[in-house]
Amino acid sequence: MNAPDRNISQDLRKIRQLDDVAVNRIAAGEVVERPASAVKELVENALDAGATRIDLAVRDGGKTLIRVTDDGHGINEADLPLALSRHATSKIDGSDLLNIHTFGFRGEALPSLGAVGRLTITSRAKGSAAAFQISVSGGAHQAPRPAALTSGTVVELRDLFFATPARLKFLRTDRSEMQAISDVVKRLAMAEPYVGFTIRDLSNDDQGRVTFRADPQTGDMFNALGSRLRQILGADFAENALQIDAEREGITLTGFAALPTYSRGSSTAQYLFVNGRPVRDKLLIGALRGAYSDFLSRDRHPAVALFLECDPQKVDVNVHPAKAEVRFRDPGLARGLIVSALKHALAEAGHRASTTVADATLGAFRPEPQGRIYQMDRPSQQALRGSYLAQAPGFEETAAEFVPASGRVEDVTEDAPQENSPLGAARAQVHENYIIAQTADGMVIVDGHAAHERLVYEKLKRQMAENGVTTQGLLIPEIVELSETDASRLLEQAETLAQFGLVVEPFGQGAVAVRETPAILGVINAEAILRDVLDELDDLGHTQMLGDKIEAVLSRIACHGSIRTGRIMRADEMNALLREMEATPHSGQCNHGRPTYVELKLADIEKLFGRT
Ligand code: ADP
Ligand code: MG
Repeated sequence: MNAPDRNISQDLRKIRQLDDVAVNRIAAGEVVERPASAVKELVENALDAGATRIDLAVRDGGKTLIRVTDDGHGINEADLPLALSRHATSKIDGSDLLNIHTFGFRGEALPSLGAVGRLTITSRAKGSAAAFQISVSGGAHQAPRPAALTSGTVVELRDLFFATPARLKFLRTDRSEMQAISDVVKRLAMAEPYVGFTIRDLSNDDQGRVTFRADPQTGDMFNALGSRLRQILGADFAENALQIDAEREGITLTGFAALPTYSRGSSTAQYLFVNGRPVRDKLLIGALRGAYSDFLSRDRHPAVALFLECDPQKVDVNVHPAKAEVRFRDPGLARGLIVSALKHALAEAGHRASTTVADATLGAFRPEPQGRIYQMDRPSQQALRGSYLAQAPGFEETAAEFVPASGRVEDVTEDAPQENSPLGAARAQVHENYIIAQTADGMVIVDGHAAHERLVYEKLKRQMAENGVTTQGLLIPEIVELSETDASRLLEQAETLAQFGLVVEPFGQGAVAVRETPAILGVINAEAILRDVLDELDDLGHTQMLGDKIEAVLSRIACHGSIRTGRIMRADEMNALLREMEATPHSGQCNHGRPTYVELKLADIEKLFGRT
């Protein structure tokens, strides 16, 4: 690597005050990364101004034109130049940075945009007889002049980054910039369901093509939000989502979370809001992962739109220039609320996966083309193996210990089926896996392998909860060198770690000795685990990683030990499996989020044959 070239003409020892234009350009580097960040700032300003309709027009992915028109309260003639100066805002008085109720408060967006593009603001303040306009280009602006506008504000930003061409080089194709813009607008549209939004693409003609429309919603918050989500995320999401409404110690969590059977291959369908502000927050995304960890493999991602609300004093929004991240005063509380509320809702919906799946099944039978109601890819085996598992050579043997080699259904209870039980009476097994059962008003098809896998997993978890984690002592304790603070932080958690089978002791200054490890994890890299625990303590203030890892192994063992397709089951075995599924929580889906059974109602079957 070359050292930076400091051999330039200026005297680098002389300190000088930068002028406003330079200061604003530097600030713009943080606030305005790409056209979508400009859109975010302008739409947020419109929302802060109390707009009920916001129209966005864009050309060339926002590179040549972004125009936001709103019907909000407008800006006075005298305030127009102020709006363009740095740290000038009408939203806070500066005395309390922890009591913020608006999207904006930093007073940075407009001056930053004016420093990197050609900005024109036209506005007519409520109650004012005339409209005024002010323009700024490359940082310099003139006095406001009279203009024509009946109400609200129009902010137009042309030629973004013309003043900082280096930035232009980092922009992506028009298409992907447009994609980012519509993602920003969608997130804000979810946060504000009572406000109407449109996006118009002017790239091909001045009339423009409407690429997004969300009409203003009415009714109570859940109705309004539900309809808005249906508009934005589609009917599939709405039909597969559970309503969430929980509260703990002054923090509320509301919104919708999709069933595990409606998972995605990436985290793009995770919409999180804190006090109405869209955020992409590591802590919250981690909490989601935790809540669904029992139902989804690592390469699947839940789809949610969730809103955390709390006293603004409990969360600091001033930690990120674009306000995309927040900092909770008590991160454990927010995380705990998300994990417990979602786990609770998913447990209650334990058997619901199958109804949406049944719709898909019926759809597949019908002659007319149907949209896919749920989407589910098989997770890769690789993805199911955690990083520590890959280093655990004893793993396959550990798995074998837990499971009878014959792969027979365990705990066969010999009670006779009554067709009144939800999963009915087994009638047949087809293709050496699928169990066909008759219920009171329909039939059930069970994926024998998936169902058994779930049952074994729940059983292993129960055993662990009852008997604790079995540990193995290390012949030679592993000594891990850490900083002194890290070592003491870790030792403070010694008791919790011991519950999960990791026994650590102090070993002189800044070192800990690992004496026992969880037997189920096989040979582990103790140092790597300790470092991960420390990272987690930084993020969350407590650790649950070991618990998660152990659950991942149990899930894998269950997968290994389950009935392989190809084994013929007796009637009593099949019925025992059905009864055990009824009695076991979460048995509606396998450990990877696939459904374990599909129910078809007689009425639907009759419809298939044109009998109704
Ligand atoms: P902030 O939003 O952090 O206050 P901005 O630079 O984005 O800073 O905006 C500066 C000020 O301009 C705002 O505080 C507000 O008073 C005014 N303003 C900006 N956009 C609008 C708008 N669309 N309608 C009414 N007032 C606006
Ligand atoms: Mg703003």
